[in-house]
Amino acid sequence: MVVVMGTEAAPQDVAGVVAAVEGAGGAAFVSRGETRTIVGLVGDIARFQSLNLAALPGVVEVLRISKPYKLVSRENHPQTSTIVVGGVPIGPGTFTLVAGPCAVETPEQTLEAALMAKKAGAALLRGGAYKPRTSPYAFQGLGERGLRILADVRAETGLPVVTEVVEADDVELVASYADMLQVGTRNAQNFSLLQAIGATDKPVLLKRGLQSTLEEWLMAAEYVAQRGNLNIVLCERGIRTFENATRNTLDVSAVPMLHSLSHLPVVVDPSHAAGLRGLVVPLARAAMGAGADGVMVDVHPHPESALCDGPQALVEADLLELAAAARDFPPLLGRVLTEPPQRLPTTR
Ligand code: PEP
Ligand code: MN
Repeated sequence: MVVVMGTEAAPQDVAGVVAAVEGAGGAAFVSRGETRTIVGLVGDIARFQSLNLAALPGVVEVLRISKPYKLVSRENHPQTSTIVVGGVPIGPGTFTLVAGPCAVETPEQTLEAALMAKKAGAALLRGGAYKPRTSPYAFQGLGERGLRILADVRAETGLPVVTEVVEADDVELVASYADMLQVGTRNAQNFSLLQAIGATDKPVLLKRGLQSTLEEWLMAAEYVAQRGNLNIVLCERGIRTFENATRNTLDVSAVPMLHSLSHLPVVVDPSHAAGLRGLVVPLARAAMGAGADGVMVDVHPHPESALCDGPQALVEADLLELAAAARDFPPLLGRVLTEPPQRLPTTR
């Protein structure tokens, strides 16, 4: 069950709902979104119904949600959410391009990649400082030094930063540098990490687990939302199938399906789906056609010497094609390409 509070509800109204639920032996989780506060209830539904929560001050409605995920469901929240990242919107009416290196390697490489991204129309910079690699012998990322490079490049370019966090203990540190926390496919069901991120108010880019169904993915999002953070963007990045010509199989149908099941925005990462540079722009176009709220792509000034995922990184010529698609396609579907922020974000 969820209790929807009115926009004018006072903190003591929310506290009143929490006290009533706890008094009935239940647990209440408060989530504050952009436009409203909702309280998710866990416990004995029959006892909650006897409380007549709808009559409490500040309460607009009490909903029984049929889906196993509640706070992130469209049923609970018919209006599509817009998530704002360092002043940049991701949501309906806009198409947001996120681009940058797979991994932060050096200050020069990161700045060059960011300038390439910006030129292609990106409004957000991606880049991993903590890299969860399949092999323990592969480059693991620069850690906090990488975060500092990202912050410097943000100051130089004005692009807010999306970067991955891989451990619950690192959330505070990464959040102190990042504008958006990324959860990678390998951590998509790391529930303690999701809960730690849920305790912050940072926007989160939640990638799909490589074997996750849409329901499992939305349940992962629910872990974040249940702890109070509803600033979630879902990112389809390909799933593991029998096909091995591509790195993963991009599930384009996930985009409209998620839009019908959830109010959260959906972006697509065609780079990690394809694993091959030549497929990234065609798949990005497919994402646009399917109604994605944005795409996230890898770019690198020198992919041949990249420390991570060089074969899928876009170079100047591909970026020109992507920029043209990002400008021309979204308006056909009622969206405009999101501009980078005019003023520099203030984080750090
Ligand atoms: C990434 O975006 O840097 C990444 C590691 O992607 P994924 O988790 O989707 O493999
Ligand atoms: Mn990568």
